[in-house]
Amino acid sequence: MAAIDFESVPAVGRDTERAPVGTVVMKFGGTSVGDTEKLKAVAQRLVAAREAGNRVVAVLSAMGHTTDELIDLAHRISPSPDPRELDMLISVGERISCALAAMAIKDLGHEAISLTGSQAGIVTDTVHGKAKIVEVRAKRIHSALDHGTIVLVAGFQGVSTELEVTTLGRGGSDTTAVALAAGIGADACEIYTDVEGVFTADPRIVPAARKLAAVTYDEMLEMAASGAKVLMLRSVELARNHNVKLHVRSTFSTEEGTWVTEEDERMLEKAMISGVTHTLEETVYRVEGVPAARLFAALAEASVNVDTIVQTSSEIVFSAPDADHEDAARVLDGIGAQWSGRYDLGKVSVVGAGMKSHPGIAAKTFLVLSELGIEPDVVSTSPIKIACHIPRGDVERAVQALHEAFELDTVALERGQ
Ligand code: ASP
Ligand code: MG
Repeated sequence: MAAIDFESVPAVGRDTERAPVGTVVMKFGGTSVGDTEKLKAVAQRLVAAREAGNRVVAVLSAMGHTTDELIDLAHRISPSPDPRELDMLISVGERISCALAAMAIKDLGHEAISLTGSQAGIVTDTVHGKAKIVEVRAKRIHSALDHGTIVLVAGFQGVSTELEVTTLGRGGSDTTAVALAAGIGADACEIYTDVEGVFTADPRIVPAARKLAAVTYDEMLEMAASGAKVLMLRSVELARNHNVKLHVRSTFSTEEGTWVTEEDERMLEKAMISGVTHTLEETVYRVEGVPAARLFAALAEASVNVDTIVQTSSEIVFSAPDADHEDAARVLDGIGAQWSGRYDLGKVSVVGAGMKSHPGIAAKTFLVLSELGIEPDVVSTSPIKIACHIPRGDVERAVQALHEAFELDTVALERGQ
């Protein structure tokens, strides 16, 4: 198995000389291309960007719930579908969107071509279902752009170094878009979605949550890792590593959304905290009887996405997404660990780049939780994040109370341009 730990610099990427100002990558998520009317609207938006003088690369997701339906279909055939065949199956959703959008663009009088990930030159490692991009060979895209053609690339997929079709993991079209933006030296990568941008908390839980005008890469990484679903975590890593400016915005309006960029002074001074995120889909494992090095090597080999890790003298505690539970359990049994899982915990995280220079955020977080009578089970921190695993049933009110305590309903205004 040729897995790699990180997404490398696209080898023939950064072809900036060939990319004049005005190369843009525009990615549209599943709800943005949910039906034929919406696809036609996306086609119009792409044409408008072309007519404004841009070289336009679009990355589309599968229509609506297509990917879920295809996965479901596979499971109705087989209890554990063959990984290669599953990738062959689920990669078609994105091809459908791209082919249809290309037809609509041609009807609007413009040139368009749809490409699979493979045709677009997206080369990955060989891990089915969670492949990582190792290279972007953008020659074909460049020559199409040189002819004024709008290029539609099927998101979420590539071709492996062994010439198999691979997929990049759920939400992977974001990663396709960022990799292409890095590979062709685009000015920006626009992520069009069904929300207006990145919010200070999930507006379904906190009605007073506000859209942030800008967040740093590091903040966005922490937010994506701790439950904000608007961007796939790996796409943010890739954007940071290649300095790709991201603009998360609504498909259904022309309003500015949230810019994800390098930190600037203004962002730091104005707000300590930029958001409260949460997840209900994480399992916390307690493990004894195996050395950490062995444990985490085995988990990595099985592509389990380990998040929080806490080690005390005899016990190792770590968390991983619920979706990885089957793999994690197999690994833990396989290496003969004594282990237990907590399936009743969620995680609340307070994130903000300004935390680095302002003491007292942890104290305030614990105070707010204790006033609610909530005792965190596991606490983990980074320079810009405090995360607490607490009972799932307490997550909503913890998010609400923290949002209020840190006065996040005013932060977005302060951070505005
Ligand atoms: N269609 C894929 C998914 O549902 C990839 C994506 O939309 O980004 O996960
Ligand atoms: Mg997504």
